[in-house]
Amino acid sequence: MLTRMDRFETKKSLGQNFLNSKVVPEWLCDAGEVVAGDLILEIGPGTGALTEALLSRGARVLALEADLRAIEILKDKFKDELKSGQLSLEHTDVRELDLAKFGLQDHSFKVVANIPYYLTGFLFRVLLSHDIQPSTLVFLVQKEVGKRASSNIQKGEKESLLSLSLQAFGDVKYVKTVGRGHFSPSPKVDSAIVLVHNINRDKFKEHSADFFFEILHLGFGSKRKQLLGNLAKKYPRPRLLEIFNVADIEPNARAEDVPIWKWLTLTRTLENELEA
Ligand code: SAM
Repeated sequence: MLTRMDRFETKKSLGQNFLNSKVVPEWLCDAGEVVAGDLILEIGPGTGALTEALLSRGARVLALEADLRAIEILKDKFKDELKSGQLSLEHTDVRELDLAKFGLQDHSFKVVANIPYYLTGFLFRVLLSHDIQPSTLVFLVQKEVGKRASSNIQKGEKESLLSLSLQAFGDVKYVKTVGRGHFSPSPKVDSAIVLVHNINRDKFKEHSADFFFEILHLGFGSKRKQLLGNLAKKYPRPRLLEIFNVADIEPNARAEDVPIWKWLTLTRTLENELEA
């Protein structure tokens, strides 16, 4: 007899590539060092492949899912865990995320998820810059995005807008590549597990994260231009050169050649100047 899960018609528009593998959920749990008693926010549980692994480790799980058909399957599959309160299920669109509504406290939970790829940028941004931050975040993302996210000058690589945005809030690691065969339906590209840990907002104790991101985006504005040229669209070049000197940035540097700590000096100095 066909079960409801066998008959589940996946929706491309919801990024539904479900894990058909027992090992990948374990890799995701290992990356997040999930242990009994942890509180995990799972985005997009789908038919519950990862949810099952999280619950088996003794974690409490809050799962947010947009597809009502998946919710019905999960209710069936995890009756006991729902009853005991180990699992909470919310039928919601994660774009309307309200962490306070779920009673989550700052750094009291981890996010572990095989997310819909169309929401990757949004979820990184919203979860890391939120007033209520997770302590750790583990995402399964497209491999190319995973590489870009974890690229780092200290490893002799180029930075990217994404790598610097993540480093602003934590330490980033490319954990491992996950082949496309681990999913049904199989996507066109491989995936990767990315970990952001030690999440904090310490870098923005004395200056504004919004200003940092404004300058970061301006700096990466035109790919062909050097950083100075991009910033000079808004700030006077002679003063920028002085600030580059303070931040130890070469006048001809490109945005992707500048490590996070120099970006922070640059934006802090610029911000102080504007306030003076
Ligand atoms: N976690 C499951 C797994 O690993 O097999 C499913 C992962 S699938 C890549 C992404 C899941 O996110 C789907 O279940 C999809 O319905 C859900 N989803 C897509 N857009 C969403 C949204 N805006 N809010 C909440 N869930 C969403």
